[in-house]
Amino acid sequence: MTTPPSSCAFIAFTAAYLAIRGVFIRRARKQHKTDKGDARDRALVALVGLGQIALPLLFVWTPLLDVADRAQPSACLPLGALAMAAGLWLFWRSHVDLGENWSVTLEIDAQHRLVTRGVYRFVRHPMYTSFFVSGIGQALLLANWIAGPAALVAVALLVGVRVPNEEAMMISVFGDEYRDYMRRTGGVVPRLS
Ligand code: SAH
Repeated sequence: MTTPPSSCAFIAFTAAYLAIRGVFIRRARKQHKTDKGDARDRALVALVGLGQIALPLLFVWTPLLDVADRAQPSACLPLGALAMAAGLWLFWRSHVDLGENWSVTLEIDAQHRLVTRGVYRFVRHPMYTSFFVSGIGQALLLANWIAGPAALVAVALLVGVRVPNEEAMMISVFGDEYRDYMRRTGGVVPRLS
C-alpha cells in the first residue's frame, strides 16, 4: 500500500516540527529547566502529543483507524500544506522570540523576563495559535475523521485549561506589566490594531 501524498506532506511537516522542538528542548535542558509541572499540565502535554503525533502515525502506518477514513478532495493537499507551513513558521518564530523563557510545562524562574516583542507584540499565546493553525493543516491533510481533527481537539483542551493558569501565573510574577500587556494584545487570535 502506498502512502498518499497528503499523508507524506504531513509526515514531512511533523519531522520539521520535531526538529525545531528538539533544538529548543536541548537549549532548555542546558538552562536546567527540569520542572515536570503538575499532573494535569503533564496530562495535557501528553494529550497534545497524542493528537499531533501518535494518532496521525497510527493512521499513516497501521490499519487501526481505517474505519474512520474519509474521501480526500484534491484541494485538501495544497490548503493543508499551506496551513501547516504557516503554523510551522509561527511555531519557530514563537520559540525564537520567547528564547530562554520557554519551557514545556508552566514554569517561571529567577531569570524569567516578560517577552512582549516579535510575534508576542500582537498575541500572548502565539505558540498555541501555531498549534491551531497546524491543526487545521492536519485536519485537511489526513483523510481520517479521528487522526485528522485530533490535534485541534487536544489543543482546544490545552488552551481552555492551561491559559487561565498560565495567565494567573504571569500576573502573580509580573503584575501590572502583564495586565497592561493583556490589554494591548489578543490571547490566541492576534490583535493587529
Ligand atoms: N503561551 C505561550 C508560551 C507557551 S510556553 C505561547 O503560546 O506562545 C509556556 C511558558 O512560556 C510558560 O511557562 C511561561 O512561563 C512562558 N511564557 C508565556 N508567555 C510569556 C511571555 N509573554 N513572556 C515570557 N514568558 C512567557
